[in-house]
Amino acid sequence: MQAQINTVDAALPAGLALKVATLQSLLARIAAGHSPATLASSLSIEDMVVTDAILSRRHAIEIFTLDTGRMHADTLALVDAIGQKYDYAVKVYRPEPRAVTQYVTVHGRDAFYESVDLRKRCCEIRKVEPLKRALAGKRAWLTGMRREQSTTRTELEVQSFDAVYGLEKFNPLADWSEDEVWTYLRARNVPYNALYDQGYRSIGCAPCSRPVVTGEDVRAGRWWWEQPDSKECGLHVGPDGKLVRSKVDA
Ligand code: SF4
Repeated sequence: MQAQINTVDAALPAGLALKVATLQSLLARIAAGHSPATLASSLSIEDMVVTDAILSRRHAIEIFTLDTGRMHADTLALVDAIGQKYDYAVKVYRPEPRAVTQYVTVHGRDAFYESVDLRKRCCEIRKVEPLKRALAGKRAWLTGMRREQSTTRTELEVQSFDAVYGLEKFNPLADWSEDEVWTYLRARNVPYNALYDQGYRSIGCAPCSRPVVTGEDVRAGRWWWEQPDSKECGLHVGPDGKLVRSKVDA
């Protein structure tokens, strides 16, 4: 199907307007052919682009986020901002309190600084297990990941079968640049996390994210004490720790 550029998006640079039309066309295809589908939103600038694209056309795609219990208030404030702008209630999943308590009691609240294993265990409890609940019964999930973001994402596909969770996975912004994301947000007056104005370029949990300086990788501020090739939280990796990828048809 030929992607159609609508009159609002025609004001965007030509290349971006075409990407927006392609995004809208893909969302329509997902809603029609892969329902129930859901966007896993970390409330990042990328996820806000996809959120706006979904809600401005009311595509039948659910949006959820994971409140790990360690988020910045500025990040969670976006749940209310989305509610106000789009009259939509983002679904919020939280970790199992008992698992959190056990981790904190045995290892300490901030034990993730001590080793990659303890960091991954914390992510498993606070992110991966809630994600499994969020994806249960779904036929497809979407993310706002982009290839440019880090060395772990250079081969990211727009569509693949996620063998770990057993459903289709879509990364509709895989080929978008960071500049294109900002141009879209500003052109459409989409709300975004105020921390980006303080030097953050990728935002996760508060104790595991920090601002980056010019020249650093977008995700350099995430788990900055670890090597670049271990910097995924488990939401997007298989048992080998690598990004999940398989069949490509988009
Ligand atoms: S990002 Fe940090 S605080 Fe958040 S779940 Fe992972 S290790 Fe825990």
